[in-house]
Amino acid sequence: MLVSAKEMLEKAKAGKYAVGQFNINNLEWTKAILLTAQELNSPVILGVSEGAGKYMCGYETIVGMVKGMIKCLKITVPVALHLDHGSYEGAKACINAGFSSVMFDGSHYPIEENIAKTTELVNACNVLGISLEAEVGSIGGEEDGVVGAGECADPNECKMIADLGVTMLAAGIGNIHGKYPANWAGLNFDVLGAISEKTGDMPLVLHGGTGIPEDMIKRAISLGVSKINVNTECQLSFAAATRAYVEAGKDLQGKGFDPRKLLAPGFEAIKATVKEKMELFGSVNKA
Ligand SMILES: [Zn+2]
Repeated sequence: MLVSAKEMLEKAKAGKYAVGQFNINNLEWTKAILLTAQELNSPVILGVSEGAGKYMCGYETIVGMVKGMIKCLKITVPVALHLDHGSYEGAKACINAGFSSVMFDGSHYPIEENIAKTTELVNACNVLGISLEAEVGSIGGEEDGVVGAGECADPNECKMIADLGVTMLAAGIGNIHGKYPANWAGLNFDVLGAISEKTGDMPLVLHGGTGIPEDMIKRAISLGVSKINVNTECQLSFAAATRAYVEAGKDLQGKGFDPRKLLAPGFEAIKATVKEKMELFGSVNKA
């Protein structure tokens, strides 16, 4: 069964740990993440970008796949199926398709318009018991063609959006999607501290979890981050393991070309990455 992210994130905020959001791209990705969460007895959030939604043949296909997998694999830990960086239309489509959580990324709108659209979605989500993530201050880097400058969010604007009744809030604190450049300035903990102070119990979300040093992750969690998004890191580990398999010529040996064999090293690599993150975030045995 899919659940809203509300309860798992409130527990995480109170318990000073974070729940990982791992983005999915296909069956192997989803299966690897669900099995790892179950093995580690950790709550988990499956993230779906609008681009990945199209790739996987639409939100209804994804809901069917995830629900079927939870049943077949006997997954009992809390699982939220979450739209990542949704548009207003995308959020509504996912609400209708059966997602248990959505993000509306209105960070590129003027704050008044972000507030108006977020308010409408708060009402729609509350009726259905779906969790809603809002964003203030765009996240740096590129995601599905949207390029953010990596600005820091205004703590007062964060409070305005938090007060609308959203479940969790993503705020830019110098974090970036994708790989971090060598000259990256690091997370801005002064801004994070100010946002945390203004927004109280609101679980905060850290996007761009790939490549942030462990000590910064831990400090961010201590300052109120309760959800951390990981996407690129699973892609990198999957690609590296698949490359090693092919470069070793294993696809040319026996039935090594069988997709179930060809994709197995990448599948195991995703599992290892997810395990490493869940241990770092402190969500193991918190299901
Ligand atoms: Zn993001």
